[in-house]
Amino acid sequence: MATHTALVTGGNRGIGLETARLLARRGLRVVLGVREAAAGEAAVQALKDEKLRVGMVALDVADKASVEAAVLQLARRNLRIDVLVNNAGIYPEGDALAAADEAFEDAFRVNALGALWTSRALLPEMLARGYGRIVNVSSGYASFARGLAGPAAYCVSKAALNAVTLKLAQLAHGDVKVNAVDPGWVRTRMGGPAADLTPEAAAEGVVWAATLPAKGPNGGFFHQGKPAQW
Ligand code: NAP
Repeated sequence: MATHTALVTGGNRGIGLETARLLARRGLRVVLGVREAAAGEAAVQALKDEKLRVGMVALDVADKASVEAAVLQLARRNLRIDVLVNNAGIYPEGDALAAADEAFEDAFRVNALGALWTSRALLPEMLARGYGRIVNVSSGYASFARGLAGPAAYCVSKAALNAVTLKLAQLAHGDVKVNAVDPGWVRTRMGGPAADLTPEAAAEGVVWAATLPAKGPNGGFFHQGKPAQW
């Protein structure tokens, strides 16, 4: 079987970096989407030091021109993306009145539209080739069943990401799957030092969805490989 290639957005640190590491350990070729070259180079070097097959591409998911340029760059390098992990995310604080207008704009742009633009750029080829996995790294705070229990801009943008997941999944056919994953509360710059899970433990749940077999689910929301409540 040909080696699959994965693109992990926000791959320079946190859950994204660990997802990249675990995917590369499973033998995938992994491209880190990064918005800062220096941070990306340091992450790539760390993974290369572990003899993993990784590269990077400049990618600010909040900027549609950057998404288009990254896809062009990948095509020029003959890299066809089989697995897309929409991991890049931001966490603006504040309730629905206290948060600044920009908090909502930024959250929607990165957390929801960023994943949508990147998926819209890569899903058509996956459908044409008959294989693809898209994983949207969502959150327990996106869950209506759990009361959207977090900061307002973050919750509504991640709930929108879950809706994006379902709309993309409705287009999936062949061996193409689009799913959302709640990684849990994770010890990263976003999650803070008191969080429950290591980035590696959280990344396991992302990798599970990124490497589902053909009989695996499409259009679901999962936490560590088990169904999560929307
Ligand atoms: P993190 O350590 O803060 O990492 C966030 C990553 O997203 C960084 O690589 C960051 O790049 C990147 N990013 C932010 N805006 C971007 C943009 N416009 N374009 C490209 N990359 C961008 O956070 P994390 O905990 O690993 O979070 C990863 C994902 O898990 C996020 O979607 C987050 O919402 C989700 N999540 C996390 C937790 C948790 O407890 N940590 C819980 C639930 C869900 P820079 O280094 O350039 O800033």
